[in-house]
Amino acid sequence: MSRKLASQLNSHIFTACEIFPDGTALELIRDPSKADESRLLEWRGRVINVGTSVEHCGLRYVPIELEPSVSTAVRFPVRVSPREGVRDLFTATELLMGCYLGLSGPNLTLTVAWQLASWVYDVLAHAPVLWITASPQSATHVALQILGLIGRHSLRLAGVGRRELCGVPTALRGTLLLDASDLRATAENLIRSATRPGTHVVHRGVIDLFCPKVVLTCTFPSEFWRDSEIVRISLIPSTKRIEMPDPKTAEAIGQEFQGRFLSFRLHHFADLQRPQLKNSRLSPPLQDLAATLTAAVMGDKELEQKIVAALESQEDAGRSERSSRPDAIVIEAALFFAHKRGQSEVRSSEIAVKATAILRGRDRNGEISAENVGWTMKRLGVPTVTLSSAGNGIRLTDHARNRLHELAMTYDVLTLRNDIRRDCPCCANMRSADSAK
Ligand SMILES: [Zn+2]
Repeated sequence: MSRKLASQLNSHIFTACEIFPDGTALELIRDPSKADESRLLEWRGRVINVGTSVEHCGLRYVPIELEPSVSTAVRFPVRVSPREGVRDLFTATELLMGCYLGLSGPNLTLTVAWQLASWVYDVLAHAPVLWITASPQSATHVALQILGLIGRHSLRLAGVGRRELCGVPTALRGTLLLDASDLRATAENLIRSATRPGTHVVHRGVIDLFCPKVVLTCTFPSEFWRDSEIVRISLIPSTKRIEMPDPKTAEAIGQEFQGRFLSFRLHHFADLQRPQLKNSRLSPPLQDLAATLTAAVMGDKELEQKIVAALESQEDAGRSERSSRPDAIVIEAALFFAHKRGQSEVRSSEIAVKATAILRGRDRNGEISAENVGWTMKRLGVPTVTLSSAGNGIRLTDHARNRLHELAMTYDVLTLRNDIRRDCPCCANMRSADSAK
């Protein structure tokens, strides 16, 4: 044995998990008889060894040392369950979440798909955030408990700011469950930037916050999120009463699902691939998210289709929400005039009257004033000028028309999506760009 190797063997590496090129994996596992002691499980197609240390390629690995308070707050698997089909695990998790979270439809499908992907996030090199917007009457405490029971090395945190996020034990490589009723913008930005590996934060050295995260809050995510970074779920109050599982049931759920998800990870980490999604009408950022979520179902075509369909319905809902914002209504009204033959300018007051009529046509109250229109156009980069003593407005130059069309596309304004004008050069450009995607 060389002196270098001997000195390496005298030291050890603290770890929460490892995947080696030869197909060996190390995982933290808990001894059921000693609740606060971790062991390392060595896997190579089957369990090779469980012990307080594992030697691999001349190096000795030992479980990471956790603060006692952290160690008791995190649930670890106590065994690896027998191999099962991904469909069976997906269906069992659907049943559990349907029962305890009251989820159904696309919300349920996407939460289960996210859960599966979160157990292999490091292999997929992508950890989209599960953002749960809960209404005040929702059983959020039950949702957090269940997600904690079945999540990988889950740690539940409340009152989260940048400082608290930077203080989490990143070596645990676990899932963060953020009970975030008052999430601040700086913390939200930090969470958003850490959905891919390699984004570091300076905090007593440099740390990498790349790990799966659940944000449970009463607000919607800010407009800065890209669709590839986030799975958006709404937790609405269920008509049936949702009860917290009693301690015995909670323990049984935890032990069963930790073992099954660990088995899923160990049996599949070597075969995970990012599939090419074909024939999807999802926008490119959502296709990226769909690729991650469907990768985790290991080629089950039926589950892949179910996940893509759930994302499509989410995208449709997002379009409808975007196109009903006040900015979108103003753009829609301005676009109406930009599409009128021979029209070279339009006053803000005319756009305001049209925008208010659009609002009324959609059974919505409120009024949009010429001043509102002026401010909206300034903010969105459409130049306004003094047209006459009657007021300000837009000169419908090529530049202004192009900008209005770009905005209409961004805000999913209905008239552009459903009513692309054959005689409008801007619409023709949009259509050819859309079909080239
Ligand atoms: Zn047009």
